Amino acid sequence: MLPYGRQSISEEDIEAVVAILRGDWLTTGPTVTAFEEAVGKVAGGHRAVSCTSGTAALHMGYAAAGVGAGDEVITTPMTFVATASGASILGAKIVFADVEEDTALIDPAAVEALVTERTKVVAAVDYAGHPADYDALQAVADRVGALTLDDAAHSIGGSYRGRPVGDLADLTSFSFFPTKNLTTAEGGALVARDDAIAQRAHEFHFIGLVRDQSRFRMTDEGPWHQEVHDLGLNYRLTDVACALGLSQLTRLDAFKTRRTEITARYNAALADVPGLRIPVQRDDVDPVWHLYPVRVLEGRRREVFEKMRERGIGVQVNYIPVYWHPVYADLGYQRGMCPNAEAFYAEELSLPLYPDLTDAEVDRVIETLVDVLG
Ligand SMILES: *Cc1c(COP(=O)(O)O)cnc(C)c1O
Repeated sequence: MLPYGRQSISEEDIEAVVAILRGDWLTTGPTVTAFEEAVGKVAGGHRAVSCTSGTAALHMGYAAAGVGAGDEVITTPMTFVATASGASILGAKIVFADVEEDTALIDPAAVEALVTERTKVVAAVDYAGHPADYDALQAVADRVGALTLDDAAHSIGGSYRGRPVGDLADLTSFSFFPTKNLTTAEGGALVARDDAIAQRAHEFHFIGLVRDQSRFRMTDEGPWHQEVHDLGLNYRLTDVACALGLSQLTRLDAFKTRRTEITARYNAALADVPGLRIPVQRDDVDPVWHLYPVRVLEGRRREVFEKMRERGIGVQVNYIPVYWHPVYADLGYQRGMCPNAEAFYAEELSLPLYPDLTDAEVDRVIETLVDVLG
């Protein structure tokens, strides 16, 4: 079965990991620092805090933003559940804003209609690797004193109006899961434009430990002393994983180029196929295509999904609207709330897309899809 996404691991990646296993630091060592600096560099020059997953990065981001009970977080339903659940678990109320009909990205006009003085964060998702409209979102967020967050699990290496992903919102979260644009096996990172917020995220992911003497509330304990001011978790990424990440980062440009080539090949072959809509791209973005989401019209998505799988093409569906998950339905969120997201979900089918996919394999996906639709 051709998967819809998978990692690309080189001999250099393997050597980099093995070298760490032979060394002194398996975790919390210099390779973590080096990886965080390298992630920060591609993400607009801001501080990056590495962590164990994209889910952890979102939890850290919301915690560092001070999200808690009584706060509202506005986000898109067209995402993986963690974009919302990372704020729910801190006690916030999630307010779902509908997406644009064509891009499936959060619609700034929908956000505008939903912001209140309780809005703490406006969280967008760069669905499929295509950045959302951050200038419009930031203007709405600024009006009520909210922060913006970019769930960039799909979009590291992309840009919007000449600015790199990582510089588009107050907070940016990355995932380095194997299907994403680069991998550390499990892993993620949070980038913050404000150093104080980055420091809070760092402490949250480091059990809440404060190690800066000048901030100690107990000043006389001794040289071993560290203390906790706010509760945290252990979300630290290892040097082993960061070595893989550092090596993968050197290949990010090549990954992006290959993803762009495959997307162009799909676009050229599928643009005029009846019963299908191909993804759109705005003029002011440079995406890193993480997914290739086609829309299967005439109510045939499930049939096409099953027939593609039967023929060895591992298509996927991204995503069920978040508020359809029972955990949100149980809170009273109603179907029908975000019609564009629901219409998109009803038709969406992700075709295989990853750097090691060959042209011959892409052509096999195209031929199979055309045949199944025919
Ligand atoms: C993958 C993903 C996450 C979660 O990342 P993990 O590393 O799997 O925890 C969050 N948001 C989006 C949009 C994702 O695709």
